[in-house]
Amino acid sequence: MQCRLLRGLAGGFLTLLCMGLLSLRYHLGQSAKSVQETLGLSPPSPRPPELQLQDVFIAVKTTRAFHRSRLELLLDTWVSRTREQTFVFTDSLDEGLRERLGPHLVVTNCSAEHSHPALSCKMAAEFDAFLASGLRWFCHVDDDNYVNAKALLKLLRALPQTLDVYIGRPSLNRPIHASEPQPRNRTRLVRFWFATGGAGFCINRKLALKMSPWASGTRFVRTSALIRLPDDCTVGYIIECKLGGHLQPSSLFHSHLETLQLLGAAQLLEQVTLSYGVFEGKLNVIKLQGPFSPEEDPSRFRSLHCLLYPDTPWCPQLVAR
Ligand code: UDP
Ligand code: MN
Repeated sequence: MQCRLLRGLAGGFLTLLCMGLLSLRYHLGQSAKSVQETLGLSPPSPRPPELQLQDVFIAVKTTRAFHRSRLELLLDTWVSRTREQTFVFTDSLDEGLRERLGPHLVVTNCSAEHSHPALSCKMAAEFDAFLASGLRWFCHVDDDNYVNAKALLKLLRALPQTLDVYIGRPSLNRPIHASEPQPRNRTRLVRFWFATGGAGFCINRKLALKMSPWASGTRFVRTSALIRLPDDCTVGYIIECKLGGHLQPSSLFHSHLETLQLLGAAQLLEQVTLSYGVFEGKLNVIKLQGPFSPEEDPSRFRSLHCLLYPDTPWCPQLVAR
């Protein structure tokens, strides 16, 4: 009996001690907060963890006609190093691709045309999938782009985390003009910069969320139709004219509408995106010696990939002498 009483007393004492400690902790917390408030200091906001490749959503736009001729090259090269982050948006189901990509192949309901609505439809699907992913960065590329994941991560890490960011290569050396329809059949002339879709561009989540009223669901296609411009221009229009944001120009993104031969060998390894294709009637590719010949590797993407990732099984292995 006595024993039980003693145990009861000890238990009561311990409970009181715990409650006292808890309340002290609470008050200390409170007083630290009120000191900060009095001094007008905001509590230190937790810094987001350093950006990893897993935080980046990479959307590749393609179409049925390019599944074999363009996409396979990407899957063999850079996509093999960014598989978890990369989603391919197309217009037709392809069993071969489905096998290689699984849920990373997104078959949209968009038409397989090169029209503004069809291309905007795919951009809208990319944008919605990014929003749903919860990831920190949205990067769009075409199916004739090479993405250097290391260079991309280095670039994105250097950008401010707390600001709105839209980064890419300006398509022109001046802003584009568009007519924005106004009530009573009037129009307003607007001017804005945009990143050329053919070189790829990135937008951070903070900005993407603000774009939603003009870009999510069916709105992107509507916005594009309103200004009668393609998908990449529409992105620039929403950011610059609707949100007052700005394109941050970067010379690390490249399309085949610039002379790719001008990039030196050392520079090539630092670029975020590269491309290949026809420009002014001529084949436009990066200048690289090897390891593959231009006949084996006309785009030069395989050769570039082997320079970036020499441990790739299909790359010629350097034999130690
Ligand atoms: N594209 C598409 N539907 C089409 C034609 C092209 O989705 O009917 C895509 C294509 O896969 C690529 C992008 O649009 O990702 C640009 O196409 P392309 O490189 O042929 O044209 P460019 O505008 O670069 O000359
Ligand atoms: Mn192209």
